[in-house]
Amino acid sequence: MVDGIKTLQQAIQHFADKENCREFMVFLRWPDGTPKCPYCGATKLTWMAKAYQYRCYGDHKPQKFSLKTGTVMEDSPIGLDKWLPAFWLLANCKNGISSYELHRALGVTQKTAWFMLHRIRLAMEAQPGVMFGGPEGGPVEVDETYVGGKVRNMHRSKVREKYKGLPVQATAAKAIVAGMLDRDLREVRAKVIPNTRRDTLQNMILDGVHKNSSVYTDESQAYYKLAEKQFVHDTVNHMEEYVRGQVHTNGIENFWSLLKRGLKGTYVAVEPFHLDAYVTEQVFRYNNRTTKDNPLNDADRFMLAVSQIVGKRLTYAELTGKVGETSAEPF
Ligand SMILES: [Zn+2]
Repeated sequence: MVDGIKTLQQAIQHFADKENCREFMVFLRWPDGTPKCPYCGATKLTWMAKAYQYRCYGDHKPQKFSLKTGTVMEDSPIGLDKWLPAFWLLANCKNGISSYELHRALGVTQKTAWFMLHRIRLAMEAQPGVMFGGPEGGPVEVDETYVGGKVRNMHRSKVREKYKGLPVQATAAKAIVAGMLDRDLREVRAKVIPNTRRDTLQNMILDGVHKNSSVYTDESQAYYKLAEKQFVHDTVNHMEEYVRGQVHTNGIENFWSLLKRGLKGTYVAVEPFHLDAYVTEQVFRYNNRTTKDNPLNDADRFMLAVSQIVGKRLTYAELTGKVGETSAEPF
């Protein structure tokens, strides 16, 4: 559906045409080519070109719906001509894009751009995937990192050195992100966690990694009992310079650098809720990056992001606790 579209400029040109947007959205939402009413499933619909809406004849209200109804874009007054390029931008920029940059690029207000970015990130959320590791699977690196506050960009071992004896969470206002990397799948999963207690970190491993997998972590106490839980556990000593063969967490640490580079350049807020959304975005780009084995291009990443828009909803009130943007115009 985006054959021949290779660049952002081509995407902008293509989606500047309302009919192209409609064709694209129909293809995306109803691959058999027959639009269905999101309220009752009826296919007896009338396309009202001028209003850019469908009308259903079923006994329900509202009877009209747009191509955005039932997606993360529902009720947005912003047109698909801006939404679709915004997906393209966020799926493909290396370090993310700030609401200020999006506001200038699309000619929407910064507040609108901010809200759009959050809704696109919701679409980027990974579907529950396979368990990491396994007897046949590759080793899994597990680590956590601190974002914001004074100890930003410092590894925990260095933090511990600096704040001897103090519980690390008490040293500065910051959020903790935990992550796992499966080396064979070359895939990362990461999320904001409330604390670095053993149960928090071990539950993440128990829920997401096959027993008997090789798990590499640092020497934190939180990981001490993994061997008892049937994992092959090995630890990295960050004070030592050398790497013992396969035993390292360089992959996940590399992901942390990418995450922080983006945060530093483009994002200011580190409240856990918003940080989690940003982590989702960075995980999406990392897991869909171009590699020799997986030669994805920009159009592929765009398609992956927009293919996940249906059935998700994020309102302005949910995001901010305030009532702001509401339903209005359809396109
Ligand atoms: Zn209907």
